[in-house]
Amino acid sequence: MIIAIDGTTASGKGTIAKRLAAHYGLPHMDTGRLYRATAVAALKEGVALDDEARLADVAAALDLNDFDEAELRTADAGKAASKVSALPKVRQALFELQRAFATQSGGALLDGRDIGTVIAPDADVKLWVDAAVAQRGQRRWKELSGYGEDVTLEQVIQQLRERDQRDQNRANAPAKMAADAVLIDTTDLTIEAAVEKALAAVEAALARGNRT
Ligand code: C5P
Repeated sequence: MIIAIDGTTASGKGTIAKRLAAHYGLPHMDTGRLYRATAVAALKEGVALDDEARLADVAAALDLNDFDEAELRTADAGKAASKVSALPKVRQALFELQRAFATQSGGALLDGRDIGTVIAPDADVKLWVDAAVAQRGQRRWKELSGYGEDVTLEQVIQQLRERDQRDQNRANAPAKMAADAVLIDTTDLTIEAAVEKALAAVEAALARGNRT
């Protein structure tokens, strides 16, 4: 079984993905980490964030063990990830790794922006997780403050808007809800309630034999 979870930044999709993967005993890939790690490695190596050919080489040579979680989670890493992820050769360099993970025997759960549309259009279940930008801003602001970042709520909301714009309007694999995905709106939900709702949506999709 392949479960594809896509959605906007700070919508809760990462937490939902982790919890559903544990529930179904599926290996989980957080595909945003690949783009974040590509961006962080490029910044470390002095590769310009618009040098598509060199960035694709950086992506192809990634070893995720070289990064710690805190450096991947900064606002700058997220912003840089959103820039490098718009480049087709970077996406191409990361495609096979994701596709192989998705199609491993025994199934998999992946979360990102284009899992249901590009990486695993054949997924058994697709969710699109979203929430109002003000709510997502609150969540991301708390998370970044926890990592010690000195940033205001207004700045975080502005950054989220810019990131949504870039991710949804890029020509290559834009972040968008697949036609056969189920929308999980987490605006007014606690994380527990959001996980419950996502779980119910997966069960309903499986019961329908929702293959496309
Ligand atoms: O989900 P996360 O915030 O870690 O993703 C960081 C950035 O990586 C996103 O803003 C998006 O630009 C990019 N991304 C992507 N496709 C994915 C996952 C992430 O383009 N499947």
